[in-house]
Amino acid sequence: MDFLAGLSRISQTNFIFLIEWYVMKIARPIAALIESFQKLPGIGPKSAQRLTYYLLHVPQTQLDDFAESISRLKKDTVLCSVCKNVSETDPCPICSDPSRDKTQIMVVEEPLDILAFEKTGRFKGVYHVLHGAINPLENIGPDEIYIDPLIDRVKGSKVKEIIIATNPTMEGEATAMYLKKQLTAANSHPRVTRLGMGIPTGADLEYADEVTLTQALEGRREL
Ligand code: ZN
Repeated sequence: MDFLAGLSRISQTNFIFLIEWYVMKIARPIAALIESFQKLPGIGPKSAQRLTYYLLHVPQTQLDDFAESISRLKKDTVLCSVCKNVSETDPCPICSDPSRDKTQIMVVEEPLDILAFEKTGRFKGVYHVLHGAINPLENIGPDEIYIDPLIDRVKGSKVKEIIIATNPTMEGEATAMYLKKQLTAANSHPRVTRLGMGIPTGADLEYADEVTLTQALEGRREL
């Protein structure tokens, strides 16, 4: 047990998994899928096993569709060269929509945040996806996320307002402050605003409901 206690949690999980594999003689395709599921966020060894054995009862055609969706996930998508959203086309449908106001850019952490705002139907501007937030504890600095492309996009453009809609977490706030500084230093003069009341501190925007997001958008303030 001393040996087990000395291992990290992940190593322990793999160790237990190996023991189970040898003792129970799990078929290799099953073991391989369990291992793949375990690499996903929020999936522990028990859930990985449950999902795998569940899939054994699913018709083969459905499994083939599932496998094809996974295989096409990255092959058939691109990052929009304008806003960095994940899309099938470049530019993405939002950037290429002539009815969207290109002088107003909302900056979000993740593509899922765009979906949340699009559901409100209240935002008629365009977006910029950072793909993360500044997080020194996890070694994510400004260069690891799409901040520079935003500065380049704004410089010398007709952009009138940048709404910073990063999450109200420590990382999201730090990113907002950094962006404000960079936008000022880049000598671009759009209005920089931050989402207003309604979103609880520490929350993830993608989980906020439509009413809360609409209130936050309407209550935005100067940053
Ligand atoms: Zn785009």
